[in-house]
Amino acid sequence: MAPGGGSCKEVIESRVTFSDYDMATSSADLRGSPLRKTATALSGNLGSTSMNDVHELLECPVCVNLMYPPIYQCPNGHTVCSTCKTRVHNCCPTCRNELGNIRCLALEKVAESLELPCSYQILGCHDIFPYYSKLKHEKNCRYRPYSCPYAGAECSVTGDIPFLVMHLKNDHKVDMHDGCTFNHRYVKSNPHEVENATWMLTVFNCFGRQFCLHFEAFHIGMAPVYMAFLRFMGDEDEARQFSYSLEVGGSSRKFMWQGVPRSIRDSHRKVRDSQDGLIIQRNLALYFSGGDRQELKLKVAGRIWKEQ
Ligand SMILES: [Zn+2]
Ligand SMILES: [Zn+2]
Ligand SMILES: [Zn+2]
Ligand SMILES: [Zn+2]
Repeated sequence: MAPGGGSCKEVIESRVTFSDYDMATSSADLRGSPLRKTATALSGNLGSTSMNDVHELLECPVCVNLMYPPIYQCPNGHTVCSTCKTRVHNCCPTCRNELGNIRCLALEKVAESLELPCSYQILGCHDIFPYYSKLKHEKNCRYRPYSCPYAGAECSVTGDIPFLVMHLKNDHKVDMHDGCTFNHRYVKSNPHEVENATWMLTVFNCFGRQFCLHFEAFHIGMAPVYMAFLRFMGDEDEARQFSYSLEVGGSSRKFMWQGVPRSIRDSHRKVRDSQDGLIIQRNLALYFSGGDRQELKLKVAGRIWKEQ
């Protein structure tokens, strides 16, 4: 045990409530000493070390993510990623010695020579990448999970489309409709409170795919407006194969929008702010609502079709 190890241990023990740390320590214990593995990989012939062993070697023992430079090691050779080095307060998660600022250049170099499959392999991606370009690819991999398309509240749920459809239905109580044409009524009793951005989401099943119809109130500059637009639950290249139209009217007047659904890869906010949809000024919306202009009663008719 190196000098100072004892005091380092006390620091860690006073933080036993740090659950990530506890979990990671036990998973590190299960896999044995990273020191032994580092030694095997670096002294032995790399070709005889299986890809899995090297891959495991590059997993941070605390967060279990793959490590990227700077990779740190303690005086005993235990490695840890730069993010976790701070999280464990500079105390080696394996032997509890002080970590210091020792880079593990050998491991960083080994990583450089590796080629790894994309993390979304089980979701269908069969591409293989040099270690340091893998992360960049995964940020844009078409098989990466989608974010929940529900707007209005921060929702961090991600998954594939069938999972998100169930999530919208069960957790956000979103209305689901079958069919490629629709007639929707948006009613709001106090349309002058645009500030509390009202918004709604309806999901349409059509051509075996799902489309999100967003409707909301917000301001463009000082002008209160209502906006309706469609997002496709899938990728951009597929979204482009569809078109949609939205119509709103009353008193023998009609306002129409024709567009291309946006992919849910684009956030709800991004689509809204690009104004890629049907936008109606509040005055016109109230005119279409009829009556005494005290209530918003908009009838929006729409159609989705596939381009040939
Ligand atoms: Zn880590
Ligand atoms: Zn250590
Ligand atoms: Zn991929
Ligand atoms: Zn959600």
